[in-house]
Amino acid sequence: MNFEHKMEQLMRGLSIANLHKSFGETLALRGVSFEIAQGEIVALLGPSGCGKSTLLSLIAGLEIPDQGEIGWNGASLGGIPPHKRAFGLMFQDYMLFPHKNVGSNVAFGLEMAHWAQGKMEARVAETLEMVGLSGYTKRDVSTLSGGEQQRVALARALAPHPRLLMLDEPLGALDRALRERLLVELGQILRAMKQTALYVTHDQEEAFALADRVVVMDQGQVAQIGTPQEIYRRPTSVFVAQFLGLGNILAGKIHNGKLQTKIGEFEIGGFETRKDGSVSVMVRPDAMRLEGMGSHQVNGIICGQVFRGSLCRVQIEIQGALLTFEFPSATPLPKTGETIRLGFDPEEAFLIL
Ligand code: ADP
Ligand code: MG
Repeated sequence: MNFEHKMEQLMRGLSIANLHKSFGETLALRGVSFEIAQGEIVALLGPSGCGKSTLLSLIAGLEIPDQGEIGWNGASLGGIPPHKRAFGLMFQDYMLFPHKNVGSNVAFGLEMAHWAQGKMEARVAETLEMVGLSGYTKRDVSTLSGGEQQRVALARALAPHPRLLMLDEPLGALDRALRERLLVELGQILRAMKQTALYVTHDQEEAFALADRVVVMDQGQVAQIGTPQEIYRRPTSVFVAQFLGLGNILAGKIHNGKLQTKIGEFEIGGFETRKDGSVSVMVRPDAMRLEGMGSHQVNGIICGQVFRGSLCRVQIEIQGALLTFEFPSATPLPKTGETIRLGFDPEEAFLIL
């Protein structure tokens, strides 16, 4: 093996191949495969019950897969017990030890690994500083706010230098403002440490804000893998589009290179390579302009408007299809019940799924 190839193997990180896991009749995982490079932050995104926590349990070694392989840098982890995998875990209900102070909570993993006292104290102080809690060592955990407790839990997970940190919906229990702040901080901490991480969430905003790549899961399978931009710009299925809140889906037909939908028939470059037949068409929420802008024009009736700060979300009925579009709040729009004439470019507005 040459040097480059060897380095590549060493940098490979986590590999998961064709994992299956059932609980009785429940098929929790049905052939999941993906990889995490060292230093990469991957978000595992999917609705409740799709198998995210089960996957973490398998990677951590707390459960055994029915089928499939988990590896680190190309070596199988099969048969390696949890404490020998050097992976860290952090949960939503962070389960700090209530009878221990902050420092003892953070030292927990280091004690388990028999660190020497002096080295352990230095590492606890260093980790607490990293999460912005310098000077908290002697504090009783019951006197901490929710956000502070969450940071202690993060410090506890990071202290033993895990080669992979797995976080299972860690911010789910916190209020929105705190969640957003901690999310930004968490991203900064993980990136500063070049920490390899797998972040589990059902919230696409969290996944997009934090991750280098997102693995979208649906019913025990991977639905799509890509960067946040790729997944948002090009969802590859109706499930992913709807899960991301891109719910404007129309039934369509491709016939002789033309796309036929309720809201019109379009000749669009690229689609002629697709076979004739039924398709689903996603209409982007930000694709509609006012009359005169765009190559196509269409009439609609405004059915409802919701003010969302910088944007206004407007429901518009076009030829019997009810679609939702976003306009900058300053856009002058007709009233609810009135007709609006819209302009758009089909290449930009439509994605065929
Ligand atoms: P998520 O974390 O995405 O919400 P889970 O991995 O917790 O999903 O669960 C996936 C499926 O497996 C669910 O249907 C759940 O009820 C089932 N499941 C998970 N763990 C167990 C278990 N220990 N025993 C029985 N069923 C389980
Ligand atoms: Mg879960």
